[in-house]
Amino acid sequence: MDYDLLVIGAGPGGYHAAIRAAQLGLKTAVAEMGNVGGVCLNIGCIPTKALLHAGEEIRSSKHASDFGLTFGEMRLDIAKLNGWKDGIVKKLTGGVSTLFKANKITHLVGRARFVDAHTVQVGDQKVTAKNIIIATGSEPAALPAFPVDQQAIVDSTGALVVPDPVPGRMLAIGAGAIGLEFAQVYNNLGTRVKVIEFAPQIVPAADADASKELAKSLKKQGIEIEVATKANGFERKSDGLHVELEDVKTGQKRIEVFDRVLVAVGRRPRSADLGLEAVGVKVSERGFIGVNKQMQTSVPHIYAIGDVVGNPMLAHKAMKEGLVAAEVIAGKKSEMDVVGIPSVVYTTPELASVGLTEAEAKERGFKVKIGNFPLSASGRAMTLGDTDGFVKMVADADSDLLLGVHIVAPHGSDLLGEAGLALEMAATVTDVALTIHAHPTLAESILEAAENVHKQAIHIL
Ligand code: FAD
Repeated sequence: MDYDLLVIGAGPGGYHAAIRAAQLGLKTAVAEMGNVGGVCLNIGCIPTKALLHAGEEIRSSKHASDFGLTFGEMRLDIAKLNGWKDGIVKKLTGGVSTLFKANKITHLVGRARFVDAHTVQVGDQKVTAKNIIIATGSEPAALPAFPVDQQAIVDSTGALVVPDPVPGRMLAIGAGAIGLEFAQVYNNLGTRVKVIEFAPQIVPAADADASKELAKSLKKQGIEIEVATKANGFERKSDGLHVELEDVKTGQKRIEVFDRVLVAVGRRPRSADLGLEAVGVKVSERGFIGVNKQMQTSVPHIYAIGDVVGNPMLAHKAMKEGLVAAEVIAGKKSEMDVVGIPSVVYTTPELASVGLTEAEAKERGFKVKIGNFPLSASGRAMTLGDTDGFVKMVADADSDLLLGVHIVAPHGSDLLGEAGLALEMAATVTDVALTIHAHPTLAESILEAAENVHKQAIHIL
């Protein structure tokens, strides 16, 4: 065999798996048909956060007039903005290549396809490996009535290139993390944005109160949001795209005109064209590769990780699964056994959650206790001039165990680490409430939400 391990795909899942395998002494190669770093570094997590930050600077500079600071008229250099974002991507992907070299990982360039259970065709060479990890990720799900041309109808990849001038009016179809993050980017850049969502709430998987709180804040910032709404199709006319929108409850239809439509209706696994049938790797009807807790597929020496194995399609989930697969292959005792996978919508405020929502906890039969703390009562939030949001804690009334934490707050993603650790350590609400939190910090809102579960928060009437 040429290698102990061949990883197919160098996204966050694949590159974490390869590096951990190399650290554990395995002779490792990675096959990648695009850029190392995958969706996350090239066209996902990182470039979106760069654009969100730029947009946030605009929002906060306007907002500064509330405390007596007024800046001159904003000048937008779109070429520079796109260049700055691309520069960050280049630096990070270059960093992954450096890590590959430092760990003596062979980078094979080309599309990979199974020839047999131990042989993979990569570009024009055949490679053999004792173990193989499939980390081929996902791609945007299509909406047949809105074929993407990356000009007027874009997906997340097209939306990353900010056009000059910015569109006057944009429709985002889908109010998950991707739709909402781009809605805020373009809203801050000066586009009039409408977001529609088929489900009855934005971020359909989120806690209902957290979703409501985020919607309230985004609407205040000027983003139009319509839930229980679908887009049926469009007609190109001289004044723009005439889109038919339908209220899913009443069936009422109307036409609205936009310059650009962003299709953000989810992602689908990239498992086709890998030759999986030939080697007997089982794939679900929706294209997800089935795995056990060790990330093994139905063929024990073939593993799969990341977006291609299922939801939530998040980079940190892919990374963790990559580490588990590499450790199992290296003979370590390791498995994917997590209490909660954090999830974040990186708007301002951010919606950051880990663990069970209130509805999920009730469905599972817990006697649920809730503690809330509004950011409007946080001294630190006031000093930031950003008091939209809250922390909601979901707990089990019988055991006092923490079940879930839902944060809508500026820097909510940074606050979430504490909640994730508490969940993984099986902390009780009392454990959190007994922990001294620095003052003044946004993190005190987690402390007060815990105290509020016991109706003992100091700053709540
Ligand atoms: P991918 O990152 O999809 O990488 C798969 C790699 O495999 C690709 O490089 C591809 O070229 C390669 N490949 C595929 N098939 C083959 C083949 N046959 N041969 C060779 N190579 C192949 N997640 C977060 O956690 N936080 C965020 O903030 C976030 N923001 C996002 C924003 C956007 C706009 C998008 C689209 C996604 C975002 N995500 C975010 C999701 C995140 O990008 C994915 O969950 C993550 O990239 C999945 O990692 P992966 O390793 O499974 O696959």
